[in-house]
Amino acid sequence: MAGGKGTRLREITNDEIPKPMAPIAGKPILEWQIEQLRRQGVTNIILIIGYLGNKIREYFLDGKSFGVNINYIEEDAPLGTAGALSMLPPLLKEKEFFLIFGDVMFNIDMERMYRFHRDKSAFATLFAHPNGHPFDSDLLVCAKDNRVQRFDSKNNDRNYWYRNCVNAGIYLFDSDICNYVPRNKKVDLEKELLSGLIEKNKPVFAYESPEYVKDVGTVDRIHLSEKEIQSGYLEKRNLKNKQKAIFLDRDGTINIKNDLVYKEEQFELEPCAAEAIRLINQSGYLAIVITNQPVVARGLCEIEDVENIHRKMETLLGREGAFLDAIYFCPHHPDKGYPEENPLYKIPCECRKPGTGMVKEAVARFNIDLSESWIVGDNTIDIQTGVNAGTHTVLLRTGDAGQDGKYEVKPDFVADDLLAGIKTIIEGNF
Ligand SMILES: [Zn+2]
Repeated sequence: MAGGKGTRLREITNDEIPKPMAPIAGKPILEWQIEQLRRQGVTNIILIIGYLGNKIREYFLDGKSFGVNINYIEEDAPLGTAGALSMLPPLLKEKEFFLIFGDVMFNIDMERMYRFHRDKSAFATLFAHPNGHPFDSDLLVCAKDNRVQRFDSKNNDRNYWYRNCVNAGIYLFDSDICNYVPRNKKVDLEKELLSGLIEKNKPVFAYESPEYVKDVGTVDRIHLSEKEIQSGYLEKRNLKNKQKAIFLDRDGTINIKNDLVYKEEQFELEPCAAEAIRLINQSGYLAIVITNQPVVARGLCEIEDVENIHRKMETLLGREGAFLDAIYFCPHHPDKGYPEENPLYKIPCECRKPGTGMVKEAVARFNIDLSESWIVGDNTIDIQTGVNAGTHTVLLRTGDAGQDGKYEVKPDFVADDLLAGIKTIIEGNF
């Protein structure tokens, strides 16, 4: 979608080139995109052009010198974010196609996204991620299996806890989607087309990934992206490459240990938690929560209550610019025979720490190198989990402060609180 005018980039475009031709580190955004596509074997490209579209045509021609094959669709009048899709069918060669907005810098494992799309038998897959300002972002509301249930507009009065799940501007569509777009009409992708598909019960999914996808529609964002290209950050975040993670315990680590936390009112962040997690977000480590929540097995609450507590955690962190790349919890407990218990979850499992089930799940999803990763927690169960999984470990003096006495293990180091622990990891002073 290369029709953007880029009013906010006038300082750079001078109204002489359209937004997708704005240079980043010496090359137009669109050229970065096309290079990325070619490297991943996506070589049949259709550029939807409008404002100053001739500048794009003159630069890329038929794409041969860029190693791809380019066709053009010209919008006579702007058709919104989806209207042009009605003109695609004669040019489509495959069952699926990616839709990418012309002001997005990205470096993602497209094959991984494609596998997700296929595995889910999705009709539409939206690349989604958490960001540092969910409170003023449109959000995706998804079921546990990542199926999108609805869009939560930033204009809604959000008097509820929400997940930090934001649509990033890269889509994978079944080519039949074009048949749902009326010809010669302005259509909004999210509000009309995708919302309409969800209403018709078509399978629309969110593919959540920590890889680099950023809108560079302002001058500041272009400059930031230039820095991130030069430092190699874009490439490093691609899930084809091994990732490093900091696994975080929840109660006593991120939030104040309050006996058992099974109602959202009981959940209160440790004072330094948001700052600590913000540091992780900026460091290149993934921030992943792994927590035992036997409160479900003990019959104190339902899975939905734990999920609501996690929405509260994401909302509170998001207000302070921090986010989590994933949250895993174990609702099980092995010991049977208590009066209120929920027998469904009273089972031995792989996921309960110090078991490594949750860590393994994250490793498969994010391609994590455990020898470069850390587990941070307030009791010996967390440290034993790290030993079992082969990560480095940090014990915190908050929460249980290691006084639980469950395992005879030594962490790599002990820190006063989450912030102190994270600083030491990132600075490499352990
Ligand atoms: Zn479990």
